[in-house]
Amino acid sequence: MKKEFVVIGLGRFGGSIVKELIELEADVMAIDKSQERVDEFANIATQAVAVDTTDEAALRSLGIRNFEHVVIAIGENIQASILTTLILKEIGVSRITVKAQNDYHEKVLRKIGADQVVHPERDMGKRIANNLVSNNILDYLELSDEYSIVEIQANDHLAGSSLIDLDIRAKFGVNIVAIKRGTHILVSPQAIEQIEVNDILIVIGSDLDIHRFERKALH
Ligand code: ATP
Repeated sequence: MKKEFVVIGLGRFGGSIVKELIELEADVMAIDKSQERVDEFANIATQAVAVDTTDEAALRSLGIRNFEHVVIAIGENIQASILTTLILKEIGVSRITVKAQNDYHEKVLRKIGADQVVHPERDMGKRIANNLVSNNILDYLELSDEYSIVEIQANDHLAGSSLIDLDIRAKFGVNIVAIKRGTHILVSPQAIEQIEVNDILIVIGSDLDIHRFERKALH
């Protein structure tokens, strides 16, 4: 069965979520209060509807309860974002993801029961900063304020050594949870596995330990 989503707010962020979900063959109801935005998505989304989602009666009339997941991508109007979240919680939507503008907005969203809060600009800024400070860090996923998973490009310094030789866990406190080698991926590699030059290491650990590993082991 196809997955069914509702995306509210068709700015750059919400709009790109709609397009990607459609690419991934999901059904998407796209909602915006602006008829112009809705017209843009009429031929892209499964359904596109012009509704101000702070209008409770109008929102209830859309039968949103039957959708698996609602994404609220209303940006600047924090009040509208909060009110929409509140109404959807009352309607009984099972999963709600909301884009937050700032930490205060996030706090309120969590208090009223948003299941997931995202900060696309802040998170992308952090990812790009991490890529900038380290040429070897290819990608970065924040698990919490302190812990992350990163993709690190192996180089000549590591190539030819096995994980046991490098003793990474004891020396740096990080774990290599997988190795990408060309099109293959070695999940939970064995200690005797030798690292090759173009391997991409998937490393989990605290940010401090990851940076220590990246600075000391690769240079
Ligand atoms: P982006 O950075 O993703 O472009 P943004 O942060 O600039 O977005 P806005 O443009 O403020 O965010 O809002 C995104 C969309 O949400 C707009 O198209 C706007 O019309 C829509 N929107 C705002 N308030 C409501 C509302 N109450 N009901 C439905 N849609 C709304």
